[in-house]
Amino acid sequence: MTTLLGLSLSQLQDLCLKEGFPKFTAKQLCDWMYNKRVDNFDSMTNLSLKIRARLNEIAVVGRSAAVDCQQSVDGTKKYLFEIQDTDSQNHQSKYVEAVYIPADDRATLCVSCQRGCKMGCRFCVTGQQGFHGNLTAADILNQIFSIEESSLLTNIVFMGMGEPLDNFDAIKQTLEALTADWGLGWSPHRLTVSTVGITPMLKRLLDETQCHVAVSLHNAFPNERAEMMPMQKAYPIAGVIDLLKQYNWYGQRRISFEYTMFKGVNDDLNHAAELVKVTRGLHCRVNLIRFHASPDVPYRCADEHAMTTFRDYLENHGVTCTIRTSRGEDIMAACGLLAGQKREEPQQ
Ligand code: SF4
Repeated sequence: MTTLLGLSLSQLQDLCLKEGFPKFTAKQLCDWMYNKRVDNFDSMTNLSLKIRARLNEIAVVGRSAAVDCQQSVDGTKKYLFEIQDTDSQNHQSKYVEAVYIPADDRATLCVSCQRGCKMGCRFCVTGQQGFHGNLTAADILNQIFSIEESSLLTNIVFMGMGEPLDNFDAIKQTLEALTADWGLGWSPHRLTVSTVGITPMLKRLLDETQCHVAVSLHNAFPNERAEMMPMQKAYPIAGVIDLLKQYNWYGQRRISFEYTMFKGVNDDLNHAAELVKVTRGLHCRVNLIRFHASPDVPYRCADEHAMTTFRDYLENHGVTCTIRTSRGEDIMAACGLLAGQKREEPQQ
């Protein structure tokens, strides 16, 4: 069975040609899947009954409802999606999470792109799970289309489970479906892709898309960053910043650095000074993030005073900086806490 969600207009045209459908059927399929967000062929009422019957034989749209949803006191919602995978023996690795974050002027969805993650960041619950597989573009788009608030979304951030640039093809296909005329037709500036900084893939993202980029920095001292983020050894942050400096960040496109604050690890003014030094010459923003302690990781959150002092230092040295409001902590939906685990069924 072919999954159609995520396919481009030209890929759908190829499929229609092969099946002997009229060429305009591909446009109709795009309209139903991406614009009208229909999840089955029988509802595509301007396709002939014969075409609908054939599509039911050879293809699926690729949509599936969330299997669980938890709501925070602050309105944040964490959706759990089951990913079909015949290879994996690991039951827990079947699930990924997407987090809906409503605010006054925007409604953001944080999506996952992998089951687990290879990057192994020491402070991240997902990273502690190891890697269990990539999501397809259909799996990622399904998170966007199958939540109750799908039509309200104003922004998508690729900051959930997994490293987006370690699954570049699926991310690129997803970005295309979200921005192309045949897809949702969104501005790329409503989309932000985060990365630890896999330099060759980051270059492709910068060259081939116009979406915003968020680099997970967390420590500007290379040796200390390598302790927290093993990928620093393969892709040093200095090389990432050199690459970023080759692009124009004075237009609508934005680059930000994510900096989670850990008590006694990266929260003093030496670290702030190093951060100013490494980002010098780059028009960027730094987001300071409160860390949420988890029994699985050996870090604690910096205290409030350290965070505001750090922020003020950056601001006084010309770096735009905000302390990110923490959302969804009570449902383990905040940054670094996504585990992709199904809640225990209540005992009868
Ligand atoms: Fe992977 Fe991101 Fe967690 Fe690092 S922080 S282990 S890149 S999910």
